[in-house]
Amino acid sequence: MRQAIWLAAIVGTACLIGSYFNATRRTNLEARIVKTDAEWRAQLTPEQYRVTRQKGTECAFTGKSWDNKQAGQYRCVCCDNLLFDSSTKFESGTGWPSFFQPATEKSTVTESDWSFFMRRTEVMCQACLAHLGHVFEDGPKPTGARYCINSEAMKFIPAGEAEIPPTSPAKKD
Ligand SMILES: [Zn+2]
Repeated sequence: MRQAIWLAAIVGTACLIGSYFNATRRTNLEARIVKTDAEWRAQLTPEQYRVTRQKGTECAFTGKSWDNKQAGQYRCVCCDNLLFDSSTKFESGTGWPSFFQPATEKSTVTESDWSFFMRRTEVMCQACLAHLGHVFEDGPKPTGARYCINSEAMKFIPAGEAEIPPTSPAKKD
């Protein structure tokens, strides 16, 4: 119990610090979908904007998708690009939705991230360069990748309700 309280305190503090210092690093990648800052602000909630356009991180175990076990698609909250499929989601124990691979070749793009004195690999939406989260190499089979993604960056479409056709070509067999 005592350990759990300490863990909660540490995670909570790290989360508060992380919310304050958003890494606003510039990228050389080109987005296919480009909007002005004012347009993104008008379209997104403040938390969605902070995470996706200012490279923020939501607090662990607080997002709407980390514990979602429903079948369906996860799409970009900014541009509707198909990002992840529930069939690749796994329980990582981190408090963030985790996947072992993106849905299609056009779902995500990655770039080295040196913020917070750590070398990490940032994951972005390939269409609009929304910050989604980071990818690590300690994931499960078959890929060994762990895409650690913010719930705020995605909208979930339950299977059967995916009336919007994928914006990217289907996965190759
Ligand atoms: Zn996007």
